[in-house]
Amino acid sequence: MTDRKDELAGNLAKVEERIAAACAAAGRRREEVTLIVVTKTYPAADVRILSELGVRHVAENRDQDAAPKAAECSDLPLTWHFVGQLQTNKVRSVVGYADVVQSVDRSRLVTALSKEAVRAGREVGCLVQVALDAGESARGERGGVAPGGIAELADLVAGAPGLRLDGLMTVAPLTGEYAGRERAAFERMMDLSTDLRRTHPAATMVSAGMSADLEQAVAAGATHVRVGTAVLGVRPRLG
Ligand SMILES: *Cc1c(COP(=O)(O)O)cnc(C)c1O
Repeated sequence: MTDRKDELAGNLAKVEERIAAACAAAGRRREEVTLIVVTKTYPAADVRILSELGVRHVAENRDQDAAPKAAECSDLPLTWHFVGQLQTNKVRSVVGYADVVQSVDRSRLVTALSKEAVRAGREVGCLVQVALDAGESARGERGGVAPGGIAELADLVAGAPGLRLDGLMTVAPLTGEYAGRERAAFERMMDLSTDLRRTHPAATMVSAGMSADLEQAVAAGATHVRVGTAVLGVRPRLG
């Protein structure tokens, strides 16, 4: 193995151990939690190594970086998740490679995604991004809709041609009542997911938890964790 492959294999094994331990502690089966490796700022070569090591889900947050990387890796059996704030002028490009867009947080974005998905003849999975630090009707600093806005947006996605409503996504808030209380934040997400599934029973995904707080997310019931740093290393620049 190359040095980089060795390093990524070691990091992946540690993350796998953490997820397995968190599942065991929560009385959950390991298969209930899917690892998504966030490859933002890292090269396509790393994505290729991760694929060789058995990773099946990767995530990116900037279309400029993600589009060429996904093109270079189009031969690999990977599911691509888009997790960044998404401008409508990037939607056509993102729909070209993303299987799931986790950052759906406003109606204009739903309209644009639907139009491009239909044009491309693709079905795009959508998660409504929830901002637990936003006021009841506002949007969060880092994207996301306040809990009060989930139902309307979810109905819109569910009724939009080319889109599939898969569930909810959040990032543990740095401000507001949940700052520093990741477990409480993720438990609130699970309650919001329960509400959502009353009207949309197939929208079962709960994407929550990153390198620093994946244990709390698994304990609360998350179905997907998004891990970057703990697998690839500290990012060379903000992203
Ligand atoms: C970067 C990023 C992650 C991964 O964060 P790490 O702390 O590096 O694990 C997860 N989710 C989103 C939305 C991100 O932008």
